[in-house]
Amino acid sequence: MPSKRNVSEMYSRQILLPEIGVEGQLQLHQKKVAIVGIGAVGSVTAELLTRAGVENVIIIDRDCIEESNLQRQTLFTEGDIGKSKVNIAQEKLQKINSHSKIRAEAINLSAKNIDLLQGIDLVLDCTDNVETRFLLNDFCRKEKIPWIYAAAIRTSGYVMPILPSGPCLSCFLTPASLETCDRVGVLNTITTSIAALQVTIAFKIILGKEVEPILTYYNIWDTMSKSITVKKKQNCQTCQGNYIYLHESGWKFPIRFCSSGIFQIQGQSQDLKNIKEQWQKIGAVVDDGETLRFRNLTLFKDGRALIKADSEKEAIVAYSKYIGT
Ligand SMILES: [Zn+2]
Repeated sequence: MPSKRNVSEMYSRQILLPEIGVEGQLQLHQKKVAIVGIGAVGSVTAELLTRAGVENVIIIDRDCIEESNLQRQTLFTEGDIGKSKVNIAQEKLQKINSHSKIRAEAINLSAKNIDLLQGIDLVLDCTDNVETRFLLNDFCRKEKIPWIYAAAIRTSGYVMPILPSGPCLSCFLTPASLETCDRVGVLNTITTSIAALQVTIAFKIILGKEVEPILTYYNIWDTMSKSITVKKKQNCQTCQGNYIYLHESGWKFPIRFCSSGIFQIQGQSQDLKNIKEQWQKIGAVVDDGETLRFRNLTLFKDGRALIKADSEKEAIVAYSKYIGT
């Protein structure tokens, strides 16, 4: 039934815009876009692109849906809690636009697997962590792929297109200078606004229009925006072709997630059946075929565990106790 839908009617209101037109619409259909992270910014970005007819999309996220996500992660509803973000997002996006070809990757993007972004026309940063952003920065510079940095925290956020020949993320940020949104909170109108800005720049890049490598700051509570000119830093490692983040052998340490006190520990790949049997001796286990959930812990086949804990140390203790060292 959806295949009989009149496709041009679906896009009629944006084809009318001189900025898009019929030619632009065809470009939107053809280009391949990666959305890294399908949380608050990623949900809105993915939905807007899908509705606009960007049909070749890959979405990547390692996380499961939690109750605290629903305030701002617009693709998810109460019944989705506990399920994989990318799988639910794929399902919903496919319902919005049946012509979409959405590839869902429930993985922890790292130096080991980032090659799956080869051949992508544009990468959108919708992550909530520093490691992935610097990884994308190195990969995209090496592969000459444009990408768009986006971050939102509290009531404000930043967006910047990072183009193959312009200044890169490392030119103006160091990993230590990034604040995490852990426990400081975030307003749903800022994540939505930052996503809208990111998607608008994405349209321009897809259509081959010129975009300035300007960092936009926006505070929605104070209704205040700033355009910040970023210059290439002398001796920038990434701009000089030293892609240190591509040489990391994946994350070795727990990473605290945004706003919810969840840590990730990447261990060896696991035999879930075996672990399930052990855990069942001490408590209830939820098995959805992809993950096992037990107490404050979610375990994936690849050995990755998400652990709700008050400290990094407590997360490591739980990992060693229930999974192994
Ligand atoms: Zn640089």
